[in-house]
Amino acid sequence: MDYGNIYQNALSQIVNATDRASSAIQAHEIIESILAQRLESKNGISANDAALLLSTLRNQDLRSSWPSILAAASILRARCYGTHVATMVPIEIGSYCSSNCAFCGWRRDNSAMLRLRVKRSALISQVRHLAKMGFSHFELSGGDDLIFLQSELYDTVKAVKSVIDEVTCGGRLSICLTPLMAQHYDGLREVGLDTVLTWQETYDRTTFQTLISKGPKANGIDDNFQLVRGGDGFLSRASSQERAVKAGLQVGIGVMLGLAPCPEADILSTILHGQHLLYLAGDSAKPLIIGMPTWNPITTSVSDNHSSWHRPFEVNEVFEIIGAIYLLCFPDFKAWIFPNCRVPMETQVSTIKTAGVFTSTMVRVGPGAYLADTSGEDVFQEIFQASSEDTKKLTCQDVLQGEQFQHHFHSHADYLKAFMESGIHVVTDATLLKLALQ
Ligand code: SF4
Repeated sequence: MDYGNIYQNALSQIVNATDRASSAIQAHEIIESILAQRLESKNGISANDAALLLSTLRNQDLRSSWPSILAAASILRARCYGTHVATMVPIEIGSYCSSNCAFCGWRRDNSAMLRLRVKRSALISQVRHLAKMGFSHFELSGGDDLIFLQSELYDTVKAVKSVIDEVTCGGRLSICLTPLMAQHYDGLREVGLDTVLTWQETYDRTTFQTLISKGPKANGIDDNFQLVRGGDGFLSRASSQERAVKAGLQVGIGVMLGLAPCPEADILSTILHGQHLLYLAGDSAKPLIIGMPTWNPITTSVSDNHSSWHRPFEVNEVFEIIGAIYLLCFPDFKAWIFPNCRVPMETQVSTIKTAGVFTSTMVRVGPGAYLADTSGEDVFQEIFQASSEDTKKLTCQDVLQGEQFQHHFHSHADYLKAFMESGIHVVTDATLLKLALQ
């Protein structure tokens, strides 16, 4: 796939999408017809039709189609997944990131940020703690930490998956780290990895290069986990999922909503990318996880770039309709729409009800933060193998504030209550996976 031009191709389709209709009324009729055909079939809607649905995001005259789009997605969601949702939980390995993304608190030039790296034993303690709460999908994340990749990646994945097998029934493990090479993904599958999540941030190369200035994300890494001097991090990232799919892994894709100048083109690029990956994987394709990250403020307000970035829409206003369009664009059972805790719980739950079947709850995006929450400051020397501050002087608040970005925190129990009140029931993601592969 020509990842370098995917955004431009998508942009052309978005620009021309409304040419099919001579008025908003006719566009609405075409959208009704697209939705009716989608519900009669098991296949996702075409890119051309997706472009028209996406044109409703910012065109006020076309927003009258939103109720129909939401209703169609709800019918499809119920048909494929009933009332089920699977919950995942990220566990951070550390915040020593050597990339420099303008939207992130862990970017390497953010000297106001506390840096921590967690011991393997503490990662495992967190898995045990979170498994008792009912989580069945665990994500190891932590930015671009080349020291971790070079010295600990395989052993950590193997050890964590072994504990997941011990303490859950069919629990699964994902990574959300630097995009890796084919041999890495092969090796990781062999030691128990299930899923690779790689968020592209944006398929618009100009925006990508403007916001991501240095490090592995800007330049990619090689087979030895070394930075590629002058390398193309954009393409290395965009092709990560192809390498992971070929290794037999499930993959996640997604853009940060509202980052590109034309967010509709970025969303359509995600759809085109996903359709290509499903084609590559053929009959045995595992469901794609479609992430929906947003640019939130970071925890070190003195170094936050959040307010300087122009957003083309208010994310909360369009989040649910974007989730619905994503679901409609992929074949039945082949997409897990992933609303997360970056939006308020009310938006997250309503999007789950309409389209989402994979979600996070009770997220602590700080290294060691689940233990800081429950064990207190006495254990910090046991938790962290590296720290930019003396661990003897760290407070719980320091650790909880060491997060990548701000999010909406509620307890897992509060999420479960909100799900129940909305008629949503938690299952393992292994249960959802069986639906796709039956
Ligand atoms: S978004 Fe990821 S790669 Fe970029 S600075 Fe943050 S942790 Fe590092």
